[in-house]
Amino acid sequence: MEFATKCIHSLGANDATGSITPAIYISSTFAHPKLGDTTGFNYTRESNPTRARLETLVAALEEGIDALAFSSGMAAVDAVMNLFAPGDHIITGNDLYGGSFRLFRNINARNGVEFTTVHTSKLEEIKAAIKPNTKAIFLETPTNPTMEISDLRAISKIAKENNFLVIVDNTFLTPYFQKPLALGADIVIHSGTKYLAGHNDVLAGFTVVKEQTLADKLRLIYKTTGACLGALDAWLVIRGIKTLPLRMEQHQKNATAIAAWLQKQPRVKYVLYPGLAEHPGYAVNKAQTSGFGGMISFAVDNAETARQLLEGVKLIQFAESLGGTESLITYPIRQTHTDLTPEECAEKGITDCLLRLSTGIEATEDLIADLAQAFTDIQ
Ligand SMILES: *Cc1c(COP(=O)(O)O)cnc(C)c1O
Repeated sequence: MEFATKCIHSLGANDATGSITPAIYISSTFAHPKLGDTTGFNYTRESNPTRARLETLVAALEEGIDALAFSSGMAAVDAVMNLFAPGDHIITGNDLYGGSFRLFRNINARNGVEFTTVHTSKLEEIKAAIKPNTKAIFLETPTNPTMEISDLRAISKIAKENNFLVIVDNTFLTPYFQKPLALGADIVIHSGTKYLAGHNDVLAGFTVVKEQTLADKLRLIYKTTGACLGALDAWLVIRGIKTLPLRMEQHQKNATAIAAWLQKQPRVKYVLYPGLAEHPGYAVNKAQTSGFGGMISFAVDNAETARQLLEGVKLIQFAESLGGTESLITYPIRQTHTDLTPEECAEKGITDCLLRLSTGIEATEDLIADLAQAFTDIQ
């Protein structure tokens, strides 16, 4: 079955009413038919019929055997980190969602997990970071916000040889463009808040795995720690996913046009978009994905231009988050990446000139016209 069809139909069987859309089961608990018997559902922290259909869907889209739906992307990252114990070592990308860094540094490291951050785009750096106690590598590709591309097949090969897990946060490209499990990764994580749900109206997170032992371990963590997605929110994500392919195409169309347009603006110093042929990760990205997504980072000539642009756009809104129908622009150094030290920001190019744009699905001309008026008004 093609991906677009799966987005609509891979939900598992519908109930006997003939309802085209899944029922929303607002029940915290489920009655047992008799002693020692169950309907398959016992208590909503463990599983819920609406949420189970979403999990079936997301597992199908990522080509995994099991998915779990969490109350946020960070809850999913946190559950995965619960697989590790004091003394374990994890290699992470040095450019990640800011909240993941915050979790690793302030909570996991304090609990005895050891971290080394590397440029995951550079295989030599990964190899050099491996230790006898290395249990996993955690990465994003493209990274947030500097859009670095990492070779998932090559990294998975290194991980297999050294017996550690590959964990990929696939929020930016979604399975529409990139399927990390098929490329060799062990665990995929999503902030479902972003492209999967896609409408800036719900928080959700996912883990997806392709191997039963890992599925069992994560399900145990999940039902024990309880960061489960509610049935109403699960329904919203199911509805969002139906149009994922259409939305991703329009996000990408807008991003491609805007990246090219930004490159021609005198106040723009450089544009980071993996769909640009001169992007250093262009070839690797092309070899492992079917697209480049809708996220663009770009640097302007100075901090004052950045400020005036953020305040000057009208259709595009100055807000955190990404992957929704509405275009959003943000300022990583002041908004999403405040947990990094100034030195770390400088090393990664997260300067006071760098802006991150999540292109929505509005008409391309309107978005470019909005950016154009904001640039024109800069004093
Ligand atoms: C937003 C985001 C997260 C965190 O997800 P929440 O749903 O906000 O908790 C994790 N990873 C990436 C890449 C994100 O963009």
